[in-house]
Amino acid sequence: MPSILEVVDLTKRFGELTVIDKVSFSVEVGEVICVIGPSGSGKSTLLRCLNRLEAPSGGRVLIDGEEVTSRSLHLLRRHVGMVFQHFNLFPHLTVIENVMEGPRTVLKTPRAAARVRALELLDKVGLKDKAEARPANLSGGQQQRVAIARALAMEPRVMLFDEATSALDPEIIGEVLSVMKQLADEGMTMLVVTHEMDFAERVASRVFMFDGGHVVEEGPPEEIFRSAHHERTRRFLNQLHWEGQ
Ligand code: ADP
Ligand code: MG
Repeated sequence: MPSILEVVDLTKRFGELTVIDKVSFSVEVGEVICVIGPSGSGKSTLLRCLNRLEAPSGGRVLIDGEEVTSRSLHLLRRHVGMVFQHFNLFPHLTVIENVMEGPRTVLKTPRAAARVRALELLDKVGLKDKAEARPANLSGGQQQRVAIARALAMEPRVMLFDEATSALDPEIIGEVLSVMKQLADEGMTMLVVTHEMDFAERVASRVFMFDGGHVVEEGPPEEIFRSAHHERTRRFLNQLHWEGQ
């Protein structure tokens, strides 16, 4: 399997503080990587460096073998989709206009074609009937599903999720996770920062335990959750009171 994403010695410093410390890994096409770890360990910064919402202080990121540079940022923005904890939908646009916005402005997709594709994607996330609604009139889970459809509209090669369900009420977390699982089942390559260990156990190809700016340990979920090698990982999982099913 070819690697679609390769990270080499990625480093990010904020002043004196080193938040990402020479992290290297590669992700193959269709893999789902779940990134777990304590708050403040640098998980969000890692994702933000991957899609250049933050400029790395050092190291390299390659997408499909091509190094991301300041000149190839437009390619990165197309190929890497991101879904955040907070939905960031445009409040003044309808749901379908939110999904059409990227393709229209960045890809210059004609309006009719962008609309057809947006409807397909809204159907995929179970919200075709909300196409003409405003984001404010949707539940948090519905808004997050629109955010996923909006990211998919750019036809990304890799999707990044940063605690996409952390801000949601417990009873609607499942509807977002099931859309994410469906995407994974369809073969989307995904990096998912999550505290949903059941999801990680069911969906992840590999779990990365992140702490102090490093991947402390990585492996298939059954290994990380049942027989973690590192004390740090075991302590973290114990704190969550999560012992696997
Ligand atoms: P996590 O997502 O694992 O909770 P973050 O990546 O958000 O961790 O943050 C890691 C560390 O980097 C924290 O100490 C945080 O305060 C610091 N940090 C994040 N963004 C900035 C920034 N823009 N400026 C300064 N420090 C930052
Ligand atoms: Mg975070």
